[in-house]
Amino acid sequence: MSLPFDSYLIDAVVISHQHPDHCSDLFAAYHAWTFSPTPRDPVPVYAPQVVWDRMEEFVEGEMPCFEFHPVWTGDRAEIGDLEVSFVEMDHSVPTVGSRWEANNRVMFYTADTGPDGTWKQLAAEADVMLSEASYQGESADKPYPNHLTAGEAGQIAREVGASALTLTHIPPYLDPAVSVAEAEATFDRPVRLAVPRVSFDV
Ligand SMILES: [Zn+2]
Ligand SMILES: [Zn+2]
Repeated sequence: MSLPFDSYLIDAVVISHQHPDHCSDLFAAYHAWTFSPTPRDPVPVYAPQVVWDRMEEFVEGEMPCFEFHPVWTGDRAEIGDLEVSFVEMDHSVPTVGSRWEANNRVMFYTADTGPDGTWKQLAAEADVMLSEASYQGESADKPYPNHLTAGEAGQIAREVGASALTLTHIPPYLDPAVSVAEAEATFDRPVRLAVPRVSFDV
């Protein structure tokens, strides 16, 4: 049987925050790597400390398949050829956004965030901003302040001077084509959508 994806190709994992939609895959990785007949070398995991605390509580045991590195604003990590810098985001729990640099190309990932805070400085002049877009419509109608509308994502990408914008974190009950159209209206150029198994050059 050939698997569609070989988890042994993963060199490192970056987790932005403790909400289950962002960290629950770590539990599947823990099982796959810990109980495999061919255990692998520990995989570096970069995340806010509370993510590791919550995992230890849940697993109630050692997790030798992971090598944990707590990260917060100002921290940097070398992952292969990539340099990754972290910054606190505008979310309800400790959350890091990340700036990924290699070969003079830059991607900034917002994780989950509202529009406030100083994080936009780290997103400056990104070649690609990978942004959450949890809502559609007017900012004033947002049910929760610590997420972005698609229009806000486009507006911020424009403000920070990003060359391209890719949207993610669109809930399954929204039409992503509407989110893309709303982000294009404020970004004022084409916007891409992150979907499983599609890759982009930065
Ligand atoms: Zn969240
Ligand atoms: Zn989320």
